[in-house]
Amino acid sequence: MKNRDVEAKYREKGFYSFSSAWEKIQEEERKQVFALAEDYKLFLDNGKIERECVEQIVSMARVAGFVDLEEMIQAGRRLEPGIKVMAVNRNKAVALFVIGKKSLSEGLYIVGSHIDSPRLDLKPQPLYEDSGLALLKTHYYGGIKKYQWATLPLAIHGVFAKKDGSIVHLNIGEREDDPLFVISDILPHLGKAQASKTMSEGISGENLNVILGHIPVKDDDIKEKVKLGVLQILTAKYGVDEADFTSAEIEIVPAGRSRDAGLDRGLILAYGHDDRSCAFASLRAILDVEHPVYTASALFVDKEEIGSMGSTGMESVFYENTVAELLALEGEGYSEINLRRAFSHSRVLSADVDGAFDPTYPEPFDKRNASFMGNGVVVQKYTGSRGKYGSNDASAEFVASIRALYDENNVVWQTGELGKVDEGGGGTIAYILANRGADVIDCGVPVLSMHAPWELISKVDLYMAWKGYRAFLQSK
Ligand code: MN
Ligand code: MN
Repeated sequence: MKNRDVEAKYREKGFYSFSSAWEKIQEEERKQVFALAEDYKLFLDNGKIERECVEQIVSMARVAGFVDLEEMIQAGRRLEPGIKVMAVNRNKAVALFVIGKKSLSEGLYIVGSHIDSPRLDLKPQPLYEDSGLALLKTHYYGGIKKYQWATLPLAIHGVFAKKDGSIVHLNIGEREDDPLFVISDILPHLGKAQASKTMSEGISGENLNVILGHIPVKDDDIKEKVKLGVLQILTAKYGVDEADFTSAEIEIVPAGRSRDAGLDRGLILAYGHDDRSCAFASLRAILDVEHPVYTASALFVDKEEIGSMGSTGMESVFYENTVAELLALEGEGYSEINLRRAFSHSRVLSADVDGAFDPTYPEPFDKRNASFMGNGVVVQKYTGSRGKYGSNDASAEFVASIRALYDENNVVWQTGELGKVDEGGGGTIAYILANRGADVIDCGVPVLSMHAPWELISKVDLYMAWKGYRAFLQSK
């Protein structure tokens, strides 16, 4: 064979190069891409914090016929193939299962994502008054660039847990007639000292104070008149007082709805694509699964952005305990060895986003290995940093099975690596289920301006993630 013919043959097979998924889909599928994006935007707008995401996941799962695990246990209901089960963890994490024909000890197909996103949390003693303003002290959550959070319209979401056991929900700043909140920044005229600092120091963590109000009460006996003014509103509208902040989870997030971006409307600009794009794609995927061969599971966890610790994070035994409970409802019954087998025979997609190649900031990327906006769902063999440190590094055999599955199901996918060697890096929940003996690989949506208040994804990548997760959960 001539060299030219050999090359032609390689080109026919794709020549190991990835290209835009937009060019690979037909009109019918294009419509589905845009339709899925509309549903996703609603999910984002109604799920700015993990608790709101759990509420949506649970209500959508109920409509699709999922039954609460606790209810099954109490009713003494046994597992049967095709039954749909959900387990909720403290309103901040949730696991969905569609029971397969094979027993759990033969392994599950799991797609795991996280529903917490970088943001600002209120401190336990947040409220103070200074110079005619009432302000809230915050402690940022996850990896943010602090300067991005000043002079940005902000909303307040979260809960007060009161001593009497009641929960007060807060959601202010999203409706058109709601007030907004904001963090100030120094004017450029007086910004000389700030401008000489590094970007990470220009606005410090203790500078991230949210302006809550400014009208003083008319009473000369009161020292902090503005603070009292806002407290009176909080008490009148929500029935909470200052002490209730000590047992609250109040999150400050960018205010406003997700929007289409670009003249062609191919992109979505929104808060929280990391990791709600993968969470939504896997939710939609499992809602489509009926009577799988192996049990299909979608897992939505909290605390990924701060290291996956805590009872609602991936490091907790919540998921393991849930699978143990399921085993107890199954034919063979629970045993330690069956639980271990269930995990060691499982296959997992760690559904998390990847930082897409940015043409404006090409320097930290290896262009030959970065993921690109629009080239489909990213399959990432390893994450980690500085010599793959902390990475799950999926086995070649498992990667091959994902390649085969995606190619067979016309899922447009690409490989990805987060940045050049030694440039930085990151991790996901992948290693945690891998530690239980499962095969795990990272697989998610490429994101531009990841961890910024407003992140960008491509609609076609979201669609390919959904298509890929669905094919995976229905594996035979
Ligand atoms: Mn993530
Ligand atoms: Mn993240």
